[in-house]
Amino acid sequence: MRTSEEYKQDLYKMKPNVYIRGNRVRRDSPELSGGIYVISHTFDLVEHPDYKDLLAVTSHLTGKKINRFTHINQSMEDLLTKQLMIRKLCQVTGGCIQRCMGCDAINALSVATYAVDMEYGTDYHKRFINYLKEFQERDLVAACAQTDVKGDRSRRPHEQVDPDMYVRVVEKRSDGIIVRGAKNCITMAAIADEIIVVPTRAMTEKDKDWSVAFAIPADTDGVKIIARTTHLRAPEGLKMPHANIGDDENMIIFDDVFVPWDRVFICGENKYATLAAHLFALFHRHSYTGCKPAMTDVVTGFGALIADYNGVYDRPNIRERLVELAATAELVYAAGVASAIYGQKTPAGTFIPNEVYANVGRRHAGMHFYRELEILAELAGGISATLPFAEDFLSEEVGPYIKKYIKRRADVPPEHVYRCLYGISNILCSSLGGVMAVAGVHGGGSPVMEDIAIWRTYNFEEKKNIAKYLVGISQELPKV
Ligand SMILES: Cc1cc2nc3c(=O)[nH]c(=O)nc-3n(C[C@H](O)[C@H](O)[C@H](O)COP(=O)(O)OP(=O)(O)OC[C@H]3O[C@@H](n4cnc5c(N)ncnc54)[C@H](O)[C@@H]3O)c2cc1C
Repeated sequence: MRTSEEYKQDLYKMKPNVYIRGNRVRRDSPELSGGIYVISHTFDLVEHPDYKDLLAVTSHLTGKKINRFTHINQSMEDLLTKQLMIRKLCQVTGGCIQRCMGCDAINALSVATYAVDMEYGTDYHKRFINYLKEFQERDLVAACAQTDVKGDRSRRPHEQVDPDMYVRVVEKRSDGIIVRGAKNCITMAAIADEIIVVPTRAMTEKDKDWSVAFAIPADTDGVKIIARTTHLRAPEGLKMPHANIGDDENMIIFDDVFVPWDRVFICGENKYATLAAHLFALFHRHSYTGCKPAMTDVVTGFGALIADYNGVYDRPNIRERLVELAATAELVYAAGVASAIYGQKTPAGTFIPNEVYANVGRRHAGMHFYRELEILAELAGGISATLPFAEDFLSEEVGPYIKKYIKRRADVPPEHVYRCLYGISNILCSSLGGVMAVAGVHGGGSPVMEDIAIWRTYNFEEKKNIAKYLVGISQELPKV
């Protein structure tokens, strides 16, 4: 398996095709260091005694030890372990672990490529398995570029005035395809080895040109990654792990990009492009049942700690708020557990999560994230937004005043109070905190998308039958 140092050196060797604030930058730009710090945990903790059983797994293809972020889930236990791994890693970094996107994409494609071959006798699955071997062997980090820019939201890809609003195939050649378009809001593409592209929505017969899935190195010619970076700045002299994290969200331009056939996994088969879109969303929403509880854990931890330092930890109003946070975290996590337990083995061998439980879990998380921030703001008090800068806290001239007047319980050192408030301020008032809040709503699909998935898969007829039975419209006992 790769080390974080090898991952970084590989990134730094890539062609510079990342754009930040008008400049084309290399991947060793300090702007990208926060995200790289986060991803590095997925390499560094693979040998750690407490984390290795979560992060290391045996490949079903080669029998070798691989990183779980490159693994295809084979069983219920795999899904449960992935969920727990994501929760634990997000707790340790204090934010999104970012590497699950590529993992969810390979899992989706493992099923969709198999299914398309079964119907059309194509060889996408063989190509995909070859790619997967390389992915596992090289321990690659991939962004998943699903979200198209989409233009007029009321129109399907073939109905758009500009056909480039969804990534599409503009030419098929003997050696590969040429693709054009753009994907938006793509997490960590600027610090990924690879970009895996899957369609963003259901595709009709008329959308065949847009029915495409493929993988390319992130610095392929014609790819331009326009990054919006955010990071928490570590205050000088007040080192804390949480202040090292960062994120890059990217618009990726595909300016007539060549993709060789061995990296094309769907090309024109609209039914299976639709399947790939649904499956990525499904795996990703299951991953959310790990990361979102972790975000709530972080919020809960800071909320409980500041209440403790304030001397009011056991007051009924505080207890009520903390219990509300715990209930959200554990309900979302429980939905993920249920989704794994009621998941199923597909003909491809991949074990997929149960759709209803993954979607209700993700929906519940998405609808509560701003409420969680509201609770933290309430518990922390206004100083979470007005905290003096660390340089002033550390200064010889005004620092002693801040230390005196920031004091809460007599037995808690002022520096602990300051650090706690600094962490809260990171969550509530930083640019990264703002991105994470919107990610809580839209990442993995806006709540309406979970509504659509639940509407499509939930058995409402069964519920009608219950009502009919209870009032004597039907004598048939509801089915077990
Ligand atoms: C921080 C962050 C990270 C992300 N990371 C990734 C990533 O790594 N990979 C990736 O592929 N995506 C990623 N996303 C994108 C995410 O999946 C999308 O934001 C989400 O799917 C919503 O799409 P959109 O942003 O284009 O919203 P829009 O499509 O612009 O939706 C805006 C609103 O319009 C409504 N709407 C849209 N279309 C219709 C319609 N036809 N009928 C009725 N209402 C409609 C929606 O309900 C929504 O309320 C990320 C998003 C965020 C915020």
